[in-house]
Amino acid sequence: MSAQRKPRPQLIRTKLPMPCQEPADRVQNFDEVPYGYNEAEAVFEAQRCLKCKNQPCVSGCPVEVPIRDFITLVKERKFLEAAALIKTKNSLPAVTGRVCPQESQCEAKCVMGRRHQPVAIGNLERFVADYARDHGEEVPELPNSTGKTVAIVGAGPAGLTCAGDLALMGHEVTIYEALHAPGGVLIYGIPEFRLPKNIVKYEIDFLKKIGVKINLNFIVGSNKTVDELLAEFDAVFIGSGAGAPRFLNIPGINLVNVYSANEYLTRVNLLKGYKFPEYKTPVKRGKTVMIIGAGNVAMDSARTAKRLGAEHSIIVYRRSKKECPARQEEIHHADEEDIEFRFLTNPIRIIGDELGRVKAVECLQYELGEPDETGRAKPIPIPGSEHLVECEVVVIAVGNDPNPTIPRTTPDLEVSRWGTIVTERSTGKTSKDKVYAGGDIATGAATVIAAMGAGKVAAKDIHKQIMGIEDEKAVEPA
Ligand SMILES: Cc1cc2nc3c(=O)[nH]c(=O)nc-3n(C[C@H](O)[C@H](O)[C@H](O)COP(=O)(O)OP(=O)(O)OC[C@H]3O[C@@H](n4cnc5c(N)ncnc54)[C@H](O)[C@@H]3O)c2cc1C
Repeated sequence: MSAQRKPRPQLIRTKLPMPCQEPADRVQNFDEVPYGYNEAEAVFEAQRCLKCKNQPCVSGCPVEVPIRDFITLVKERKFLEAAALIKTKNSLPAVTGRVCPQESQCEAKCVMGRRHQPVAIGNLERFVADYARDHGEEVPELPNSTGKTVAIVGAGPAGLTCAGDLALMGHEVTIYEALHAPGGVLIYGIPEFRLPKNIVKYEIDFLKKIGVKINLNFIVGSNKTVDELLAEFDAVFIGSGAGAPRFLNIPGINLVNVYSANEYLTRVNLLKGYKFPEYKTPVKRGKTVMIIGAGNVAMDSARTAKRLGAEHSIIVYRRSKKECPARQEEIHHADEEDIEFRFLTNPIRIIGDELGRVKAVECLQYELGEPDETGRAKPIPIPGSEHLVECEVVVIAVGNDPNPTIPRTTPDLEVSRWGTIVTERSTGKTSKDKVYAGGDIATGAATVIAAMGAGKVAAKDIHKQIMGIEDEKAVEPA
């Protein structure tokens, strides 16, 4: 009798699609677009994981989430255990499951992805985090207080992560945040339809439960300097982000109804401009809105304009679709929502009416040449290709620079020529004793997960420094 072989599980080549609101419905509201997997869908997708021994996916994750092992727990329907496992490395999984560029990180390394579609790691992370939130996640037991104190500047992903890790090590942590709400870009930049604010609030409430104090409406560098904080605390971490918008140096940039993407999104998101006049923040609603740029910020602005009623929400980008820096999912969703893409096009002049309000933009066509210093094909203007695009609102989304307040008000802090605070990447240490920094203020505008990774790295070294620990192994968070 021939030995009985275990049947091979059937290989499912494609990701289980994420259920979403229909495009025609969702452009009428600000509700989240993807619904998320249900339990059966999550288990089904988890079964696609090949359980690779060497776990290449983990090397694609800036905070090294144990991806294979949490997916195995999902397969076994141990969802709360899966959530607890993710939280050992990632304190904001409901956020990163929604906004991480998985296609260039963990999923880019997934072995399934070599011949088929990679496992939907981001969708599974999101499912697990949402499940834990809905089913009573436990607050971990805290160690005794060390009596040491740390001040954190900025309540974005870098500051929140650093604060959470330090609190779990028993330190007293106080966050100072300039705005009236904590969350950084997660709360003022990324729109509700991509990252619901109740999710960010839940994560922040969790930090409060583990003892983190948050002082809002407090600008470090104005209300108190970093030196004054140093006199009160054992260490300071700066996670003040890159929220200073870049503008284009073209005529008409000061016309009425030209917004930076930051202002546009903050008005709509944080100040609830989409509910005007119920909320007091006005935001111009144009029939045609032009967004300049093609990153996540541009996609968010274009999709927001559509939801505010624009008939034409136009993205203008001087390279081609291939070079768009936005997450694939954002480009796909924007496509589905009838956002108009004008590639190989760039504005050269914004034209106003007699009252100084935007009425059109003059653009130029481009073609792509050899790669430039960034490695991307260089856009070359085509002479004589000038043309007018009529519009009532222009949103500039061509990047952000580091917030300048702290560098300007902190002597002895080494700052690069790009305005970023210079840090030692392996520890987050700055040139100033007991002062650490991480996230966009140290790297320039980057990603949520990179900012969180930097917050973690700094927390580990701060703990080591303030406790006088030499042994590396003694500094893992509880
Ligand atoms: C619209 C938009 C969409 C994005 N989409 C994505 C995405 O899909 N995926 C992704 O991975 N990344 C995305 N990013 C980038 C990502 O959000 C950032 O890289 C990340 O938030 C950086 O985190 P951070 O903590 O360093 O800074 P921030 O999130 O900017 O937080 C910094 C905080 O510090 C506060 N602050 C500043 N100065 C002071 C001061 N002097 N005193 C006190 N507080 C201060 C600010 O108010 C802010 O709350 C997006 C960015 C934007 C703007």
